[in-house]
Amino acid sequence: MRGVRCLVFDDDERPGLLVGESLLPTVVTLMRKLGIEERAKGFCHPKPGVAFLPREGRRIDFFFPEKEREGLPNYAYNVPRPEFDRLLRERAEELGAVFVRRRAGLERGDGGREIQLDAATLDATPELGGLHPKLLVDSTGRARTFSKVLGISAKRGGRNDVAYFAHYEGFSVPTERPGQVVITTLERGWSWRIPLPGRLSVGVVVDKDAARPHGATAEERLESIIDREPLLREDGAGRRRLTDVMTYTNYQLISDRGHGAGWVALGDAFGFVDPMLSPGLFMAMLSADLLDRRVFGRGVGVLDDAVAMRRGCEKVFGELDDWHRSWSELIEYFYDGRIHSLYESGAQLREKSGGFPLAVMMERHLSKQITGLVSGAKTRSSYGKRLLKLSARHLVWGVRAPEEYAVLAGAR
Ligand SMILES: Cc1cc2nc3c(=O)[nH]c(=O)nc-3n(C[C@H](O)[C@H](O)[C@H](O)COP(=O)(O)OP(=O)(O)OC[C@H]3O[C@@H](n4cnc5c(N)ncnc54)[C@H](O)[C@@H]3O)c2cc1C
Repeated sequence: MRGVRCLVFDDDERPGLLVGESLLPTVVTLMRKLGIEERAKGFCHPKPGVAFLPREGRRIDFFFPEKEREGLPNYAYNVPRPEFDRLLRERAEELGAVFVRRRAGLERGDGGREIQLDAATLDATPELGGLHPKLLVDSTGRARTFSKVLGISAKRGGRNDVAYFAHYEGFSVPTERPGQVVITTLERGWSWRIPLPGRLSVGVVVDKDAARPHGATAEERLESIIDREPLLREDGAGRRRLTDVMTYTNYQLISDRGHGAGWVALGDAFGFVDPMLSPGLFMAMLSADLLDRRVFGRGVGVLDDAVAMRRGCEKVFGELDDWHRSWSELIEYFYDGRIHSLYESGAQLREKSGGFPLAVMMERHLSKQITGLVSGAKTRSSYGKRLLKLSARHLVWGVRAPEEYAVLAGAR
């Protein structure tokens, strides 16, 4: 869109199955910016919000606001990922990006570049005219291709989880509105159910040690966990699996560095926090959007100005670090059970107050702030974060302790 010449190395190899992601409303903003929302609607499932079901006690339903506010869409989508990736490619090609069907060979760089295409790749890519690109972008996801060539380490998150998932039909899901994503706290770990057109993406996230007794293969483990977990067993009684079972592991990873002379890493190639609140695709697309605004917003000439490029990238990665930190802090409330205690307490306050206006207003205000935090709209808001922290500390009484709602690695 800015007229930067762009070449994509893509060998068209994809994993057999992708989660089938549940998106945040902030992704819809980016879809609009790219001019793809109308086409995406054709294959996505609308998502009105998300529900969190504890093992015992009250469920929490988050619905996006009734009206669009400050330009932020009040809905999101659940996307079948292969179609979404194809649409992104189609749009990029319309805008002039050129795709070559192979992977790029990379090596440590010279002449002011930290990393560069190897000679074989330069020779095999006539579109480059024998010249090194001015900027290389790593968007290879968890493969973290550039970091591996450059030996850049990463910080791992504290969880030892593994995720198994597949697509099903005949698996019911206790939604309040069609398309609502349902997250369930299990006896061990947690599960997601994401409605997609004609199918349901079902995944379980459990501690690796807790997964082993369920069988030797990913299939055995996923099916056994569904059959044994009280909150999945009945809903899944009539299920039929439509796909193989996929495994994701060691995904909580943030690189120690995301840019250098002549390169940047975006999306999971830079880092991923955790799937609990579905921030992944938003963060991947946001990282590209930040590169566009903070770096190319200065004009295409920035590609020839190493200092401006470095300063722009520092801003991008400063913001991304803050986003990752904010998501990590917020997700912790869902893992350690504080969010459920707080909601239980708020609901009791509303019921016992007999509709006393101040209590109702307080509860509504807190709900609105939390929806803003989890939807990506206000995730970094200091006010929202502080309100949540203080409320979880001081407004919880007469309900189960957070530990009783916590996502557990082992048995209770
Ligand atoms: C268990 C789990 C559940 C999740 N659920 C959700 C969810 O509900 N919602 C959500 O938004 N996010 C979710 N995510 C996160 C989301 O999947 C990722 O954050 C997102 O896909 C990152 O996008 P990406 O483009 O950076 O990487 P990817 O989507 O991984 O894309 C990278 C691409 O690069 C290709 N590639 C790799 N190496 C090379 C190479 N050398 N040359 C060329 N191509 C290469 C790969 O084949 C792949 O197609 C989940 C993650 C996990 C672990």
